[in-house]
Amino acid sequence: MPARTWTLGTAALLLCGMAAAQTQPASARKRGVDPQIAAALRRVSAAQIEANIRKLAGFHNRSTLSAADPAAIAQGRGIGAARQWIQSEFLRYSQACGGCLEVKTDSFVQEPADRIPKPTEIVNVYAVLPGTDPENVQRIYLVSGHYDSRNSDPLNVEDEAPGANDDASGVAVSLECARVLSRYKFPATLIFLAVAGEEQGLYGSQHFAQWAKSQGMNIEGVLNNDIVGGNKTPGDTQRDPSIVRVFSEGVPTAANEAELRRLRALGGENDSPSRQLARYVREVGEKYLSKGFGPKLVFRRDRYLRGGDHISFNQQGYAAVRFTEYREDYNHQHQNVRTEKGVEYGDLPKFVDFQYVANVARLNAAVLASLASAPAPPAKVRLLTKQLENDTTLAWEPSPGGLATGYEVLWRPTTEAEWPILNVESVGDATTATIPRSKDNVIFAVRAVDKKGHRSLAVVPMPER
Ligand SMILES: [Zn+2]
Repeated sequence: MPARTWTLGTAALLLCGMAAAQTQPASARKRGVDPQIAAALRRVSAAQIEANIRKLAGFHNRSTLSAADPAAIAQGRGIGAARQWIQSEFLRYSQACGGCLEVKTDSFVQEPADRIPKPTEIVNVYAVLPGTDPENVQRIYLVSGHYDSRNSDPLNVEDEAPGANDDASGVAVSLECARVLSRYKFPATLIFLAVAGEEQGLYGSQHFAQWAKSQGMNIEGVLNNDIVGGNKTPGDTQRDPSIVRVFSEGVPTAANEAELRRLRALGGENDSPSRQLARYVREVGEKYLSKGFGPKLVFRRDRYLRGGDHISFNQQGYAAVRFTEYREDYNHQHQNVRTEKGVEYGDLPKFVDFQYVANVARLNAAVLASLASAPAPPAKVRLLTKQLENDTTLAWEPSPGGLATGYEVLWRPTTEAEWPILNVESVGDATTATIPRSKDNVIFAVRAVDKKGHRSLAVVPMPER
């Protein structure tokens, strides 16, 4: 059967010439809101998040090296007690949805290494909400936070290390997404993860990501939340509770030599799958969150001198981004709890803005629910470059899983950061499209759409000769 082809007509051409100059109207931004997702977001509770952060901070010291023996667990001290509690929360949510969650652990012994002085058991705790559609259940979207904490000395397992912001806040986001989204059904699968070993050197997430890769798990997007507490230190006039930063890699960490050669020749260093995920976060934020809060994209993998669990997933070739509050307060992370010269140090719950964390949780939940409701991205998206011509022909294979009812071609000038909302052409259920616009001047992408308007991640084409 010949592929269905779509060609842009003259009237549409006039329109798209105007599009770049237009601002994005509010009505366009809110188009395609799914009432079920909007209802789920209303269930996100700042009070529940506050209770969870205070509970985690109450385990005294959650260093990966801290106690995990039965006596310490009975006393509610150390990382063993923390992970048991996280597991019990996931089980509680699962009970409330008739056993809809599979609660699991990924456990291994880390041999001595940097910041690991002796063999140490590291346990990642997670819950799976399996997709309801057999054709889409293998597609996975994952949200993560790290439940280990540290104080000034990364080997100190005795002194208080409440880690309220770093990273009980991120674990609270993962837990709250599990609590709220487990009440709904999605065609694709969601995983809610809490990892350990982050502060010692990303050990937990590395193990999980390597294992996922070895199993051939199709994780289409990872949302890592680390330091999303909003920092409400008294007197900090530069904090901005309306922004959460979303970091994403440009040149993929896992790119091979051939891919790097292509990036050098044609550009594309601003179009990694992780960056498409970041742009998706922005679009979803505009669609579902109120005016007073939204993501700000930062086009780098992470902050200077810092790393996080999303990098473990990037290393395995997965699209992964990091959420972090807008302005960090270094007196309140990686510091022993103390007062010096009138300055309070330590990562205490009183410096966390629970309403802010709830907004971050809403954004994560909206992205997860949107992606898990949407069709898979179209496969093998190509841009045909056999001959020199000013039109552009794109071709792709249908979105696997049968949810797609159509496709959209997006484009943007090479200097534009995001996909302008009006630079979209619906091409029906065609699998090729010819656009009278030169591939040399813009960046194209294709995404799949279903009948309710859920959109897949955008895929930038590979050149095909
Ligand atoms: Zn952290």
